[in-house]
Amino acid sequence: MSGALATTCPYCGVGCGVLASAGADGGVSITGDPRHPSNLGRLCVKGAALGETLDLQGRLLHPMLREPGGALRRADWNEALDRVANSFRQVIDSHGPDAVAFYVSGQLLTEDYYVVNKLAKGYIGTANIDTNSRLCMSSAVAGHKRAFGEDIVPGCYEDLEQAELIVLVGSNTAWCHPVIFQRMVAAKEQGAGVRIVVIDPRFTATCESADLHLPIKPGTDVWLFNGLLSFLFRHGAMDAAFVDAHTKGLVEALAAADADAGDPAEVARICGVQLADLLTFYRWFARHEKTVSLFSQGVNQSSSGTDKVNSIINCHLLTGRIGKPGRGPFSITGQPNAMGGREVGGLANMLAAHMELHDTVHRDIVQSFWDSPHIASQPGLKAVELFDAVLQGKVKALWIMGTNPVVSLPDADGVKRALEACELVVCSDIVEATDTNAFAHVLLPALGWGEKNGTVTSSERRISRQRPFLPAPGGARADWQIICDVAQRMGFGRDFQFGGPRDIFVEHARLTAFRNHEPQSDGLPAAQRQLNLGALATLSQQDYDALVPVQWPVTDEVRGSSRMFADGRFAHSDGRARFIATPGRAPAHAPDAEYPLVLNTGRVRDQWHTMTRTGKSSRLAGHVSEPYIDMHPHDALRFGVREGELARVHSRWGAMVARVRHGGGILVGHVFVPIHWNDQFASDARVGGLVNPVVDPVSGEPEFKHTPVMVEPF
Ligand code: SF4
Repeated sequence: MSGALATTCPYCGVGCGVLASAGADGGVSITGDPRHPSNLGRLCVKGAALGETLDLQGRLLHPMLREPGGALRRADWNEALDRVANSFRQVIDSHGPDAVAFYVSGQLLTEDYYVVNKLAKGYIGTANIDTNSRLCMSSAVAGHKRAFGEDIVPGCYEDLEQAELIVLVGSNTAWCHPVIFQRMVAAKEQGAGVRIVVIDPRFTATCESADLHLPIKPGTDVWLFNGLLSFLFRHGAMDAAFVDAHTKGLVEALAAADADAGDPAEVARICGVQLADLLTFYRWFARHEKTVSLFSQGVNQSSSGTDKVNSIINCHLLTGRIGKPGRGPFSITGQPNAMGGREVGGLANMLAAHMELHDTVHRDIVQSFWDSPHIASQPGLKAVELFDAVLQGKVKALWIMGTNPVVSLPDADGVKRALEACELVVCSDIVEATDTNAFAHVLLPALGWGEKNGTVTSSERRISRQRPFLPAPGGARADWQIICDVAQRMGFGRDFQFGGPRDIFVEHARLTAFRNHEPQSDGLPAAQRQLNLGALATLSQQDYDALVPVQWPVTDEVRGSSRMFADGRFAHSDGRARFIATPGRAPAHAPDAEYPLVLNTGRVRDQWHTMTRTGKSSRLAGHVSEPYIDMHPHDALRFGVREGELARVHSRWGAMVARVRHGGGILVGHVFVPIHWNDQFASDARVGGLVNPVVDPVSGEPEFKHTPVMVEPF
């Protein structure tokens, strides 16, 4: 084995440091990096099995073009890139810039994300670029912006070890962010009196380490936290000095909370939990100064996801528990680089460096920095509406990078129809055969983990390097390189001549510091954007190669920051955080006689996304080997299905088939189906086909946790 190289796990948003060594026999050794602050040497089973997922079987190794008859043929890079650039140019010339779109991924590195945003928003002139991160954490982004004035996670992982009370909301942390969970449990075992509360409709593996589990009715989180806000206020838990000096909007938020959640007995009834348990939670929250509320997809993936986020943040603002050790609301992201993508404008409603498309000053800052011919003037289409626009023929050319929307988006059969109707579908991927690539007119082979070079940002704002330790296979190229090659062919060459990822990172860092003290267009005093990497803007190649994990901001004054808002100054232009009034709203679709059960979706411990990588490891398949429908035994009896036998689940949007299981800790009236399986592994196994395409009106995040369905024998 050659010397081990420090890199970062490509799976979840914990962002664990990995030491990887490629051997002469083709094997790869993987261990946790003891010097990486996020995991301190720990890895979960997915990270530990990374070496088992790196073979080239099934890899897309050469560009492919679809012939008029439907067959794919191998092409050289020049022909494929010309085809993409010329087709995009023709569509733009004929139909305008908004007739093209990009759908990208939290698997991309920050450098890849930066150049594709630059191409779309600054050079083509469209904001029609969205990311699969829309599906997992855009409600947290919107909630942060409303409360803090910028998309900022205030705390760090150490807070979870310093807290006296950890509230896990809509998060099966034990399975989905295992290393964070290990750190929490280790701290609980060492610290006297540390308590964990889990708020989740299911009794998951996470609940086994909890002191209290509140199995709330799905979609009722806002009532629960409105009730908590009201309780904290009435029981003297408010930090009045903090609220007076650093916040706005308490009166309105309290009025909304009191209106529908002022009576704990009524909250318990609405949420479907025992009143005594609810009051225990409320009293613990009131009593424990050091409280962290960690939330994930169970909060975000909802038609009221943004309000759920703000209802949690409201409770931390009321008690002044933010910006201090062991305290704070904490959004944990699903993907390895969802955060990095947000930082360079990877969402259709954002610009690079946390600037806003609707802000004329921000648009001017970004355009003048790039000296670009255009700057998109209005927010683009968010994921679900983007594919609707494809189906309607408004978007005629679509470039999908590193994601599999035919499996992962809601109403996934509608996504199929959209791609069938699209004039040009380009897919950059590391895998040749996916449900989505079946619709591609052009396939472009990208580098995968172990081959790519760049940076990612974890859930605690920590920028870490992904470093290559394997050669590029076949003709595969880095995503940033492919994007720049197309940009040059479209006539934007001067501004896409990067020598490598270091050049891109430095440009991104410079933009974060560029004109970062200007008044915003609302005319209020200057608000300094907190995402500032000014001190990294002069990194040499050697510095970039040696970059150690660091939490932003990174400026001459602040060389990485564990916690934000310690001084009580927030990113709104008046420096104050905002309470947001969050009246309770039921999920968009209620169960009825035709569809009497509620479908919840999520991950299993040992698989990742649509299994294009983890599906290669027999060790990982040993945990759960096939898709399943988890349901309560009473419901199985009621609907005539039996454990171990196949059943059909269907909704107004589609259907799938899987085996019935019990034991997932699910409530009567609900079913759970994992998200991973697809038609490459089992027929009729895409749960995305069932999921309703309703989205949160603020964030655009889909309601993956609440679709009415029926289950019947197959
Ligand atoms: Fe990778 Fe997440 Fe596991 Fe860490 S916890 S090893 S980042 S999958």
